[in-house]
Amino acid sequence: MRYCGATPVFVDVEEDTGNMNPDEIPRKTTSRTKGIVPVHLYGHPANMGAIQELANEFKLWILEDAAEAHGALYKNQKVGSFGQAATYSFYGNKIITTGEGGMITTNDDKLASQMRLFKGQGQDPNRRYWFPVIGYNYRMTNVEAAIGLAQLERIEYLIRRKLEIAASYGTRLQNLKGIVLPVEKDYAKSVFWLYNIRIKSAEQNPGIRESFMGFLKDQGIETRPFFHPIHLLPPYQAMQQKLSLPVSEQLGASGVSLPSSPSLTEDDISYICDMVTRWLS
Ligand SMILES: *Cc1c(COP(=O)(O)O)cnc(C)c1O
Repeated sequence: MRYCGATPVFVDVEEDTGNMNPDEIPRKTTSRTKGIVPVHLYGHPANMGAIQELANEFKLWILEDAAEAHGALYKNQKVGSFGQAATYSFYGNKIITTGEGGMITTNDDKLASQMRLFKGQGQDPNRRYWFPVIGYNYRMTNVEAAIGLAQLERIEYLIRRKLEIAASYGTRLQNLKGIVLPVEKDYAKSVFWLYNIRIKSAEQNPGIRESFMGFLKDQGIETRPFFHPIHLLPPYQAMQQKLSLPVSEQLGASGVSLPSSPSLTEDDISYICDMVTRWLS
């Protein structure tokens, strides 16, 4: 957004899903607001019904960030089909991958040709070596596209594995005090791109999460902290010095992604859960 001169305005998230909280949208919307960019975080769909209603009310477009949510459903409809356009990532750790790269979907032909123009260095498709705009080189190579097509043949298997892994973690960790497990809202079929837990005590004391992750690392288990809330990153902090989004900050300080690779075995998950249990007791 910053690349094209737009100013992002951040809203806080829902505590259980980490997704944009639609209730926050109205008071952040002004006459200068153009669109809403919901992220389907960690594979769980954002509340698209509520977001669409607000987009209609305020006459805003929707651009879905479905980078982590290929195949996820909101009320039985695939994410990425709710707005004017949607973006998907095919980076190496995403549901399907082409190494690097991604995809944008839209039903709007005009938007599609604009995007093709900017993607391809701004070259006029009907006039060779003529550049009506300043473009980018975001072209995908044929080799990457071939890998993507092969990945697409495996997407159902890969999503099924993510769901199996989440179900197995859920069963094994459900009775532990001190952690919060991921939810799936009534309206949602998450693809559980990453399986995330929250360490309750880390909200007050972030050091606790580091010690949890350090303990697991010593047992040979790699984990990741949650993403930093974007408003705390330097380029954005500089724009909105005093912005406080308490729920995002709380999740950012206490969340941990457990191993979620489709290649995990039941034994791996059992061992990971034993170690999580040991640390908590
Ligand atoms: C990975 C990711 C991106 C970036 O995708 P790239 O293909 O690495 O550019 C953007 N948004 C979300 C939510 C992501 O997870």
